[in-house]
Amino acid sequence: MERHRFDVAIIGAGPAGLMAALHIPAGPTAVVLEKGARPGRKLLLTGAGQCNLTAAGDIGDFEHCYGDHGRWLRPALRNLSNRDLITFFERRGVAFSCTPEGKYFPKSLRSAEIVETLLADLRRRGIALHRDRPVERIGVVDDRFVVHGGGDIYEAAAIIIATGGKSYPQTGSTGDGQRLATALGHTIVPLKAALAPVTPAEHPLAPLAGNSCEEALLTVMRDGKKVHAAAGPLLITHTGFSGPLILDNARRMEPGDTLCLAFATVRREEFLRDLIDASRGRGAIAVKNIVKDAGLTKNLREALIRHAGIDPDGRAAELTRDRFAALADAFCAFAITIKTLGGFETAMATSGGVALTEVDPKTMMSKLVPGLFFAGEVLDIDGDTGGYNLQAAFSTGALAGRSVLLPRPV
Ligand SMILES: Cc1cc2nc3c(=O)[nH]c(=O)nc-3n(C[C@H](O)[C@H](O)[C@H](O)COP(=O)(O)OP(=O)(O)OC[C@H]3O[C@@H](n4cnc5c(N)ncnc54)[C@H](O)[C@@H]3O)c2cc1C
Repeated sequence: MERHRFDVAIIGAGPAGLMAALHIPAGPTAVVLEKGARPGRKLLLTGAGQCNLTAAGDIGDFEHCYGDHGRWLRPALRNLSNRDLITFFERRGVAFSCTPEGKYFPKSLRSAEIVETLLADLRRRGIALHRDRPVERIGVVDDRFVVHGGGDIYEAAAIIIATGGKSYPQTGSTGDGQRLATALGHTIVPLKAALAPVTPAEHPLAPLAGNSCEEALLTVMRDGKKVHAAAGPLLITHTGFSGPLILDNARRMEPGDTLCLAFATVRREEFLRDLIDASRGRGAIAVKNIVKDAGLTKNLREALIRHAGIDPDGRAAELTRDRFAALADAFCAFAITIKTLGGFETAMATSGGVALTEVDPKTMMSKLVPGLFFAGEVLDIDGDTGGYNLQAAFSTGALAGRSVLLPRPV
């Protein structure tokens, strides 16, 4: 067992912890304690290994991408905005490209470039990184923290907990930080898998796995009442539904809810009227040809027609009013019951975490334990897909790092 003394100890070498370390003003000694042998394991997986770092647009518009918690994040997002984040990496030699949908990726399309850049800066700044140090316990003795990790003991005047959420546990994020925070007196909003795919009780569209829909509409119904509605890209998978429309709205869903999907983004009544118009006076036209303008793949169109109990090659003249209505339901009100939402193994983020009411949004310091800071997904923050989670991790990390040795209010 070794005993170490630092001014600041940062727990967790993910994007939040590394960015926090790099924003500590020059002077104090700092150490990053990482549970595993490799830092930034989840960061390496982001954007399918390409790292969707952040999104384009005004940082003020980011807030609505964090559910009800965007307002709380405002000081952190303004302290390190999307533009600042891009500039931070550009100054260190990383070039970026932005997709037409406004997603920023490193030009190399290698998330490893982002991790390597952070680690190179850590070395340049002389900040220690101790690997294989799973922190199990934090004590407070005479205004100093005593951190037990991997058999060693670290004493520090301030600590930043940046241990992430609980999703993709193989990357090291297993809810340790929430347990450490609880032991220090903090309240934890129950952890739930977020950005998770949906498995329906029945999946008649399973053979269409891989088909997507650029813009679909989603209505979430619970006990017969509409509880949420949204629009966005939808992906059909072997087990159910995914894509931004499902992932971004999973935090509003529960098993047992009915999801009403509209693959055609016009209202049902309008779609029905268009169908009847398209077949009027053209009795010989095949049913599959009157839905050609729905903007979906041929396979998906034909599967939806079959789902309505209609032969796609049948003649439109044979459709009764009820059959037209069934067709409109299949395209504009495709109902599924949620059997399960993806668990922590498949979810890309964790909702819940350290309660935001107990953390100062202007500094990321605990309101309960002076000198204790939080950053990243350990907090009760989860964002939409598209770079918003990394932006939140980097922004809260930078703010915690900058604030960590400021004089504390008495
Ligand atoms: C597959 C996948 C793809 C994603 N893609 C994107 C994307 O493209 N864009 C985007 O914005 N977001 C993406 N995300 C989400 C994003 O990766 C996370 O929100 C972000 O990594 C959170 O950063 P963090 O630093 O808070 O936590 P983490 O990245 O989870 O890092 C926490 C670190 O703390 C360490 N740790 C945990 N417990 C301890 C302990 N007891 N002692 C010491 N160390 C500990 C862990 O080992 C880990 O290294 C993706 C997530 C996944 C799973």
